[in-house]
Amino acid sequence: MLKVLKFGGTSVGTLDRIQNVAEIIKKIKNDGHDVIAVVSAMSGETNKLIEYAHTFAKKPTSHELDMLLSSGERVTSALLSIALNEQGYIATSMSGREAGIVTDNSHTKARIEHIDTKNMTYAIKEGKVVIVAGFQGVTKDGRISTLGRGGSDLTAVAIAGAIKADVCEIYTDVDGIYTTDPRIEPKAKKLDMISYDEMLELASLGAKVLQNRSVEMAKKLNVNLVSRSSFTPEVEGTLITKEENIMEKPLVSGIALDRNQIRVGMYKVRDIPGIAATIFTALASADINVDMIVQTVAVDGRTDLDFTIPTDDLETCEGVMKIFEEDVENIDYNEDVCKVSVVGVGMKSHTGVAAKAFSAMAKENINIRIISTSEIKISMIISQKYAELAVRSLHDAYNLDK
Ligand code: ASP
Ligand code: MG
Repeated sequence: MLKVLKFGGTSVGTLDRIQNVAEIIKKIKNDGHDVIAVVSAMSGETNKLIEYAHTFAKKPTSHELDMLLSSGERVTSALLSIALNEQGYIATSMSGREAGIVTDNSHTKARIEHIDTKNMTYAIKEGKVVIVAGFQGVTKDGRISTLGRGGSDLTAVAIAGAIKADVCEIYTDVDGIYTTDPRIEPKAKKLDMISYDEMLELASLGAKVLQNRSVEMAKKLNVNLVSRSSFTPEVEGTLITKEENIMEKPLVSGIALDRNQIRVGMYKVRDIPGIAATIFTALASADINVDMIVQTVAVDGRTDLDFTIPTDDLETCEGVMKIFEEDVENIDYNEDVCKVSVVGVGMKSHTGVAAKAFSAMAKENINIRIISTSEIKISMIISQKYAELAVRSLHDAYNLDK
């Protein structure tokens, strides 16, 4: 098999950890597989470099930042390669450019346009382990670029897609994707498999494990992703794959919690055609990611409009709302909310899944403020103080600990 492995910052955080990664790679090589390993910078390194830059300038030019930040990954790739070579395994490190990763010109947040795999393919044919510095590429003008924070995952997935690897294993310090956050529900179970779409909906569970953009790319390129830990490499991780590959589709795969939400209530909005379009177009233009929207029945030509936004967008939202002062009687912002979501592909073909969620909330006397559903998700906005209780009750209601 050809395996693309990706080792994140904590997996290569110290020289000992790099040695540990070398051991993992040796074992996979000894099992007869070909290996391309993509590495992050040692943990904390990228932040340190950004801080260095900011001692000289508030806004360093993005090309200089790319030059600086890309160095972190190069250090790790060379060290890992040196460690492997010393132990009799032929390895070769490659920068993003050498690995053939061509990006657009958006420095510090570049998009991969294509990958010329010939250097990697050639090295693999020669029996070498290829170690690629993640998070970086080269623009068509030949300048170094980086892919945005957490971008090494993207490097790995994009390479796996381009070179048609059998699997792309993402090593972090967590051994897979759980049915919910084990710090909230200790009975949470590690999942063997999950579909791309479920993973994207459960983003809050995987946020520290897998970058959302890379899951989207894996879905697009049909790359089988595995989330596993370099601290316990003997433990099988969670496979993230296309839905058709999952034979036994569970009704519900997991419960996600998002505390990073604000509920905006617009009371007595003028009920005229086009008002919702105007409001949400204005919010979209300000780059505010509106999540759940509820409009109540109009009374006397006025209606209430409730929606949620990410906490970080509060100030921007307040600015946008000024435009609508004439159209609405009053607006309030409620920070005491969070969103709990029940996610599962099995919902598509089963009834009663939502009813069960609402009953679980009712049993605990938790008031649901807003509900929204998609084909594979039921989300509820509730008060922050019930966040953990809600997660545990839902986990229990769907027997996720079994
Ligand atoms: N080192 C980069 C960062 O911290 C890229 C990565 O680790 O994926 O964002
Ligand atoms: Mg990372």
